[in-house]
Amino acid sequence: MFDKVLVANRGEIAIRVMRACKELGISTVGVYSDADSNALFTKYADEAYAIGEPPASKSYLNIDKILDVAEKSGVDAIHPGYGFLSENANFADACDKAGITFIGPPSEAIRKMGSKISAREIMEKAGVPVVPGTGEPIDNVDEAMEIADSIGYPVMIKASAGGGGIGMKVVHSKEKFAASVRSIQSVAKSTFGDPTVFIEKYLPEPRHIEFQILADKYGNTIYVSDRECSIQRRHQKLIEEAPSPVMTPEFRETMGEAAVKAAKTINYENAGTVEFLYSKGDFYFLEVNTRLQVEHPITELITGIDLAKDQLKIAYGEELPYKQDDIKINGCAIECRINAEDPLNDFAPSPGKIRRYRSAGGPGVRVDSGVHVGYTISPYYDSMISKLSVWGRDRDEAINRMKRALYEYVVVGVTTNLPFHRAVLSNSEFKEGNLTTHFIEDNNILEEVKKIVDADSKASRTLASALDDYNPKVAAVAAAVKSYMESTQELDRRKPK
Ligand code: ADP
Repeated sequence: MFDKVLVANRGEIAIRVMRACKELGISTVGVYSDADSNALFTKYADEAYAIGEPPASKSYLNIDKILDVAEKSGVDAIHPGYGFLSENANFADACDKAGITFIGPPSEAIRKMGSKISAREIMEKAGVPVVPGTGEPIDNVDEAMEIADSIGYPVMIKASAGGGGIGMKVVHSKEKFAASVRSIQSVAKSTFGDPTVFIEKYLPEPRHIEFQILADKYGNTIYVSDRECSIQRRHQKLIEEAPSPVMTPEFRETMGEAAVKAAKTINYENAGTVEFLYSKGDFYFLEVNTRLQVEHPITELITGIDLAKDQLKIAYGEELPYKQDDIKINGCAIECRINAEDPLNDFAPSPGKIRRYRSAGGPGVRVDSGVHVGYTISPYYDSMISKLSVWGRDRDEAINRMKRALYEYVVVGVTTNLPFHRAVLSNSEFKEGNLTTHFIEDNNILEEVKKIVDADSKASRTLASALDDYNPKVAAVAAAVKSYMESTQELDRRKPK
């Protein structure tokens, strides 16, 4: 096994990977930006090195600086976590060139999946169903309009290089089409440096269902169950669960085999995720995430597999220790992404200092986090506080357990999305498993959130006014004590010596 691994990431995922290393007896090296010099992960690492100031382009995305630390500290391998350099094929190549193992797939697989257009084309050729649409970049808006007409509105305009829910727009009518293409082209150019866009059919009432993949260097590729990630805001996931409530063993096999086919087509190695949209009984390939996902803990909870440790073992050259039939699903797991953001202000990030913090615990609860009391959530990075995951013997138990865990969770100092999670977990449609990517709007979740926030602030107002009431009384008691002490001293003085 590797002796020493550098984790080129921050926050909870840096700690998650270092935990896996610790269990395997591997020493860890952390890298951090000036904004993170006091973060937990820098202390968790056996060695940690500063790599520059925020934003990420000057530190976590700076390949030279990271490789410099890797060489200086003498690591065998680099784990990129998620985000940052995790899906950067040039970084994987640079690691190879430096003789350091990149813990992830071969750069060629990353490159092929880095462009959504090329990914669609490859999967279509391999016989994996893709969302109806164009496989071609849009050059000419008039021509594209004809294509959109033939697909039928609503359509989705997507940036080929897009990610993280950025660079996509739903267009409901011809009138808005040309302006929408131009707006996505400009977002794509400024955010991803590539203005290429294409069109897809906007699927009605879709569910986001994805498959975890594990593949070793010897051609063994398996799917490790499914996850449903339909509860999203701005096309970004907030609550995930495993397995999907719509999954049957037969359907899992069909989708899982399609996911394995997708992975094999690009000679995939290591852990990855094949994402699909599911709509009205059919499923369509969306993309491959060539890294460990944020939501990997729920798969670990229902299968007992440690995906981060398997990543290290596969990268080291070990053979997968399981066959497809060895993968058994036990119960149900749910993950809530606890973010410092305000659901009632369009989920805007709410960076700041955490003044009080108590995470949930007890049976079946897992918290992946990198924060503590006094920690400042920086405006430079994502606003995640933690990933709260629970396991239950069945979905009902998992839901009730998550409600209990959310009740226990206390974060003071920043606005969080805890009320949002409470609202969703208490929703009857959620309990029924009736999920779509429009769940928040279709179920008026934000109205429920407002009620919860109002009730919370009413409770804190009541507390504040009780304290106001109480404080003068405390002051009066203190004054009385003082005057009593003074009078007894007076008496003392008067006592005959
Ligand atoms: P990103 O790479 O930015 O994460 P994805 O292509 O994975 O983007 O899509 C993110 C989300 O956007 C999906 O989970 C889904 O909610 C929505 N979405 C994407 N494509 C479509 C589509 N063709 N029809 C309906 N919803 C879509």
